[in-house]
Amino acid sequence: MPDTPAAPAVLDAARLRALTREFLAAHPPAGTDRLDFLRARFDAGLAWVHYPEGLGGLGAPRSLQAVVDAELEAAGAPDNDPRRIGIGLGMAAPTILQYGTPEQRRRFLRPLWTGEEVWCQLFSEPGAGSDLAALGTRAVPGDGGDWVVDGQKVWTSSAHLARWAILIARTDPAVPKHRGITYFVCDMTDPGVEVRPLRQITGEAEFNEVFLTGVRIPDSRRLGAVGEGWRVAQTTLNNERVAIGGMRLPREGGMIGPVARTWRERPELRTHDLHQRLLKLWVDAEVSRLTAERLRQQLVAGQPGPEGAGMKLAFARLNQEISGLEVELLGEEGLLYDDWTMRRPELVDFTGREAGYRYLRSKGNSIEGGTSEVLLNIVAERVLGLPAEPRTDKDVAWKDLAR
Ligand SMILES: Cc1cc2nc3c(=O)[nH]c(=O)nc-3n(C[C@H](O)[C@H](O)[C@H](O)COP(=O)(O)OP(=O)(O)OC[C@H]3O[C@@H](n4cnc5c(N)ncnc54)[C@H](O)[C@@H]3O)c2cc1C
Repeated sequence: MPDTPAAPAVLDAARLRALTREFLAAHPPAGTDRLDFLRARFDAGLAWVHYPEGLGGLGAPRSLQAVVDAELEAAGAPDNDPRRIGIGLGMAAPTILQYGTPEQRRRFLRPLWTGEEVWCQLFSEPGAGSDLAALGTRAVPGDGGDWVVDGQKVWTSSAHLARWAILIARTDPAVPKHRGITYFVCDMTDPGVEVRPLRQITGEAEFNEVFLTGVRIPDSRRLGAVGEGWRVAQTTLNNERVAIGGMRLPREGGMIGPVARTWRERPELRTHDLHQRLLKLWVDAEVSRLTAERLRQQLVAGQPGPEGAGMKLAFARLNQEISGLEVELLGEEGLLYDDWTMRRPELVDFTGREAGYRYLRSKGNSIEGGTSEVLLNIVAERVLGLPAEPRTDKDVAWKDLAR
């Protein structure tokens, strides 16, 4: 009888659990260097299981990541500190996966996932925030087949920590604003890149202004076709909203956690009115958490769509209302603030800090990743199908726009 080849094992939860256990047996967390462990996890396809083989995944359904994560957590395995590398994981990686060349995917995704290389996002400019497509940073072809970039970006989170940036710049001013943009990967250590801290309401400088002066970017670091940058940026922005609004949280894992704890531990602070408001916000937080879970499951079927805008809207409103309630509950104590010296934090730590920090930092939630007003427009037009806002500049060349 001829040998029949063994049927490939089905990648279901049981198989992934078995693969993770085999991996843990070969790389016991207690005896393995953290970075070696993370690199080996990537190479074994257990980093993000829905990515292709060879790029940290196994081509498995995205929903099965939870199976791998649970096994690794139970074994005390180190993680890649996702809060520190959120822009890389949540925005740069899906864009590189969708638009990158095989060489770009191979070069960037592994150190991005292990956290060896931090990423930032050079999108917003002083004259282009909500109206991002109006951006004025210019990229012109240089003499050696590269691009020369000049301009100013602003509100760039983590630019001071980043090795790489996703960057959009104008390559053709003679066509309407959405059409003349190209998407690049910028090396933040290159000559001509200058990063200056911007201090925010919390006293910290989480973000920066970035000045780009004659920065040379090889054409091999262009993502997508010349002039197609707006389309590429939509992938980044849709993923950004899901990354901000759709984080996986255990019950009471978000802002509601600290306020619920204070409520339980400090009966002397309770009033009837605060009780009613806390109950309502607790339910809202739980609904929002479960909706985010459902949105993540829908992602299994494809790329995030405009629904992420709704999720991010709810997240911003909830964080601001809950942190406001917490400050009221604590009274004078809620106004105490530990330190006002300018710090350069490595991550946004919502739950590990004091109530005053949460209150101040959550103000930015309705601005970052698209303001709540702009997200309402997206929900109105692309989810509910309501008439679009009048846009008189759609067919006007960017160079002829009033500025
Ligand atoms: C904490 C934080 C981190 C950030 N990190 C980054 C980053 O890493 N990289 C990056 O590129 N950017 C970053 N940003 C910038 C952010 O994306 C922009 O601030 C945001 O898109 C708004 O742009 P703007 O500040 O220019 O405000 P504007 O666009 O000038 O808006 C001003 C006001 O007008 C309203 N408005 C504007 N247009 C409309 C409209 N069509 N309909 C109704 N209302 C409208 C807005 O809602 C807002 O209230 C960050 C911002 C914050 C707060």
